[in-house]
Amino acid sequence: MPNDDVLIVGAGLAGLSCALALRGKGVGVTLLEAGDAPGGRVRTDTLDGFLLDRGFQIFLTAYPAAQRLLDYDALNLRPFVPGAVIRFDGAFRRLADPWRRPLDGVLSAIEAMSKLGEYTDALRIARLRQRALDGPLEALFQRPEVSTAESLAELGLSPGIIARFLRPYFAGIYLDPELRTSSRMLDFVFRMMAAGEATLPAGGMGAIPAQLASRVGRDRIRLRTRVAGVGPEGVTLADGESLSAGAVVLAAHEPETRRLLAARAAALGKTQETLAPPRTWNAVTCLYFDAPAPLPPPLHEPILFLNGDRFGKPDAGPINNLVVPSAVAPSYAPPGRALISVSVLGDPPMHDAALQGIVRRELTQWFGPIVEMWRLLRIYRVRHALPLQPPGSLEPAERPNETEPGLYVCGDHLDNASIQGAMASGLRAAEAVLRRMGK
Ligand SMILES: Cc1cc2nc3c(=O)[nH]c(=O)nc-3n(C[C@H](O)[C@H](O)[C@H](O)COP(=O)(O)OP(=O)(O)OC[C@H]3O[C@@H](n4cnc5c(N)ncnc54)[C@H](O)[C@@H]3O)c2cc1C
Repeated sequence: MPNDDVLIVGAGLAGLSCALALRGKGVGVTLLEAGDAPGGRVRTDTLDGFLLDRGFQIFLTAYPAAQRLLDYDALNLRPFVPGAVIRFDGAFRRLADPWRRPLDGVLSAIEAMSKLGEYTDALRIARLRQRALDGPLEALFQRPEVSTAESLAELGLSPGIIARFLRPYFAGIYLDPELRTSSRMLDFVFRMMAAGEATLPAGGMGAIPAQLASRVGRDRIRLRTRVAGVGPEGVTLADGESLSAGAVVLAAHEPETRRLLAARAAALGKTQETLAPPRTWNAVTCLYFDAPAPLPPPLHEPILFLNGDRFGKPDAGPINNLVVPSAVAPSYAPPGRALISVSVLGDPPMHDAALQGIVRRELTQWFGPIVEMWRLLRIYRVRHALPLQPPGSLEPAERPNETEPGLYVCGDHLDNASIQGAMASGLRAAEAVLRRMGK
């Protein structure tokens, strides 16, 4: 390998974005990926003609880094209907678009369900929306912050609308049931929801890294290649092989990046200071079911279902949210079938069979005996899904990418934990490398 190549450790969205930006400036790159495909936490498996994302995820078209790097047309993005269908007190109630039309959205809901919230919630959600849309995106990450739970309470939103809609909604996005996540993330997510669409690519979420990988060049990605040691002049692989490089970018997830940087710092007799203190990780468990199509209402719609009882009733079941991906993008299921995705927050301490049993019980309460016809396809327990981002953890919002001359880091743990954060940090690492190279 010519030693002016840049070695990138990890082919998740951060590593791929970094590689694409470097390639765009004519810099040679090689990605070293421990897994059997690029994508990191954004992977899609195929099973019996179904597309199973490794944990339910959505792609927000307003992400600026994604707009810069991805070809949206080629991804064939399929939108969700904005808003949500909320299950509580034994019925489904529909909340129209609170992101783009908060007054209509909440008023329509209040008409339909006086129990959801209070009249003034519509005005308060409109105020939150205005706050989220004010000023440049970067400034939003400089604001004074409290937890999301505190921020919603400070806005004066009623306990009803918080428990039935906002808490399951944001808990499902952050994978943080207590909403300890910073209010900066609340504003960021609200802004992204208001400024674009929530979508799924027709080829599954894995089509996003696959597109980046094919543009970087598949021959530039070495799969099943675990890196065991790093320095600015090269890396050592787990099998003992050494590779030299003009620069090294560490794009692994946070615990592995920490381990590799700590080993490097120890070798130099220093302490690792680049990364924030270790994060707690939020987990999620996703159950996929195969069902006969067409599904009856309300399941036929490409919309998010939320459990409005989850945070209000002590005897509520474990489901936080549910979607029918094949209603959003029909390619998620083979002809005549539908795919149902159920998310349970955390990693429930029980065997899969027991978990399936309690989830089925709750689904039957929601949808009746048709649930008996649903076949479990797979359960994904994603233990390291998203780092918790409490107030303080996004300070600074963009951590430096250079740890020492020639050794760089990127990943969602350096920005905010999202597709946008991962891609943006990869782009910033590429800029740092290019600066050092004088390009
Ligand atoms: C279930 C779930 C739901 C999510 N939902 C959303 C959502 O709806 N919207 C959103 O914007 N974001 C969502 N996210 C977050 C988003 O997917 C992540 O923030 C982003 O993908 C992180 O990318 P990354 O490149 O920083 O890290 P990763 O994807 O973790 O990539 C790191 C890569 O490094 C490789 N690696 C690690 N160690 C080594 C080593 N020693 N040698 C070689 N390779 C190594 C790993 O195999 C991996 O491929 C979700 C995440 C999960 C898991």
